[in-house]
Amino acid sequence: MIKELAKPVMYLSGVGPKKSELYENMGVKTVYDLLYHFPRYYIDLNSPQTIRDAPLNETVVLKGRVVRKLPEAPIRRGLSVYKAVFTDDTADLTIVIYNAGYLFKSLEVEREYFLVGKLTGNLIRREINSPQIYPAEGTDPVQPVYRLTEGITQNLLRQNVHAALTSLGAQIYEPVPAEILRENELCSLGFAMQNIHFPTDMHTLEMAKDRLVFDELLTLALGMLMMKSRCREHAGCVMTGESIDEYYSGLPFELTDGQKNAINDCIADMQKNFPMNRLIQGDVGSGKTAVAAGAAFFAYKNGCQTALMAPTEILAAQHYETLCGFLEPLGVKVVLLTGSMTAKKKEKVKAGIAAGEYSVVVGTHALVQASTTFKKLGLVITDEQHRFGVGQRAMLAGKGDNPHKLVMSATPIPRTLALMIYGDLDISVLKELPKGRQPVETYAVTGKLRERAFGYVKQHLDEGRQGYIVCPMIEESAADLQDVKSYAKNLSEGFFKDYRVGLLHGRLAPDKKEKVMKQFKEHELDLLVSTTVVEVGVDVPNAAIMVIENADRFGLSQLHQLRGRVGRGQFKSSCILITDNPTEEVVQRLKILSKSHDGFEISQEDLKLRGPGDFFGSRQHGLPKMKIADMSQNMDVLVKAQAAAKVILDKDPQLDTPQNSGLKELVEHLFEQNVSND
Ligand code: ADP
Ligand code: MG
Repeated sequence: MIKELAKPVMYLSGVGPKKSELYENMGVKTVYDLLYHFPRYYIDLNSPQTIRDAPLNETVVLKGRVVRKLPEAPIRRGLSVYKAVFTDDTADLTIVIYNAGYLFKSLEVEREYFLVGKLTGNLIRREINSPQIYPAEGTDPVQPVYRLTEGITQNLLRQNVHAALTSLGAQIYEPVPAEILRENELCSLGFAMQNIHFPTDMHTLEMAKDRLVFDELLTLALGMLMMKSRCREHAGCVMTGESIDEYYSGLPFELTDGQKNAINDCIADMQKNFPMNRLIQGDVGSGKTAVAAGAAFFAYKNGCQTALMAPTEILAAQHYETLCGFLEPLGVKVVLLTGSMTAKKKEKVKAGIAAGEYSVVVGTHALVQASTTFKKLGLVITDEQHRFGVGQRAMLAGKGDNPHKLVMSATPIPRTLALMIYGDLDISVLKELPKGRQPVETYAVTGKLRERAFGYVKQHLDEGRQGYIVCPMIEESAADLQDVKSYAKNLSEGFFKDYRVGLLHGRLAPDKKEKVMKQFKEHELDLLVSTTVVEVGVDVPNAAIMVIENADRFGLSQLHQLRGRVGRGQFKSSCILITDNPTEEVVQRLKILSKSHDGFEISQEDLKLRGPGDFFGSRQHGLPKMKIADMSQNMDVLVKAQAAAKVILDKDPQLDTPQNSGLKELVEHLFEQNVSND
């Protein structure tokens, strides 16, 4: 980065110590930060409306002249109102300005101005209160509007950005190689910077945006690819072709072809001299855990430890049980390590891990805490990876001598996105479900049928099955929690008073959560009222019925994940989606779930109906935060940026050459600022 950009904002004319402190509050320290503090939106003065036709009670842009200034009218001490009559020859209006005498004084009769503000009144008497006023002459036609902080005004920010651009003059640097700019038809960075802040029209603004979005996605793609290739440099724990036949013959079921292929993929990867980086993508219930256990057994046979990370304590506990079941009879020692264990217990377990007493360690984030050391970590498995951040993963990977990495996900994301999120990885897909699974019969009904739905639940419970009632707690707020609690109370004291009802929600202490889940697993509870914490991976084969309240509030993929909690055993299972918002659109959407049981197909529908915003909005992916690119909107740019990143890194894998130093700085800047907060 050229020196000018790294200078503190204070160096700009018009920015003193006070202002620079205010800027710092907004996260703007350097000239670079200021230039990358992009406008939130723009006011386009190019096509003003006429006063006659402009709509009332909306923000409008008008152009006209001041006809007459009315005498100042003090309302009360310290508050004055100033008024002026304004016309554009189609109609008149009154400009009303409170207190800002200096502004009023600067208005000149017969001079032309743009007004931006909300038009009020009626068709006979129109008024505009405290509008933004720009002289028609000498004002840039597109005005940027920035996110501000107390003490910094739009005008000041515009002036300071202007000063920054002027101080750079023609020397704004160009980090991206010329041929990549040409191929992607992008403008220069200097042009983009000038026009993202002060576009002459909407066209130059678009050009500027295209360039800056590309830069940001290119930076992201470079960073992800570089992380991956750093791993490639080192040899991981190289393993040899030990047989895992014992594992196969010990299983209580025959693996599906998909499962077998996935395990073979892992075994082949783990014998290469660079670490495996593989994603197992399989719909809910496809049996990913059995694949993980197979890979862990192979690592065990090679004398290496395996760490399995799950997003929640409930899941960690469940994986622990499953792996114990599969592996302990084969002599593999498995241990659970979670944050909620007592300090003493944790210490003991950690000591065992460090000494290599345990071959498989299952846990939550506690695993990645700096104090856990492994004797010989060979394989790291992460379940439902999109819930973890890039930083967390990197940390765990740093614990061993570049361990092999296996990721399990039920989220069928398009390959481009998978590559972006996981880096350059290989994918094994579990296409089919284990034999004998029956699809979960799914019905969408309105709230009117709630009682009948509950009656249906009762029938199942009476047959010895268990059930879930899921209600959303969108905000995770105290009020929402209260709603969920009273809902559960009503059910357990009312309709289901003769049954054992438990409540599970995200705000419960981890040990409490685990206790409830354990009770449900052991059939000490018949019915579990739950928020979406049951969403991922919980496995209770006796559960055969699920009711989802306010189903319209969920995305289809999430509903599909939820209903995957039932139909996991030999019992015919059902899922009832209840909505109190039965618009045609909602009903059509929910009906997709009655028809399809294919997670991939469902997620495609979701993408069509709602866009990928659901996925990106939640920041579950753990990617750095973008300033201007919106990955859900800029998929095509993402593809181009990835291709460009490959071309650049092919020639210069770690961006070490002088001509790529600008890019390298961009990458470091993006990842340094953002990765830590997951
Ligand atoms: P998911 O892919 O959703 O994580 P799980 O690994 O939890 O699925 O497996 C779901 C259920 O299916 C578990 O009870 C598991 O024991 C069982 N299962 C896994 N593979 C098979 C198979 N090949 N045949 C029969 N049941 C299987
Ligand atoms: Mg699972």
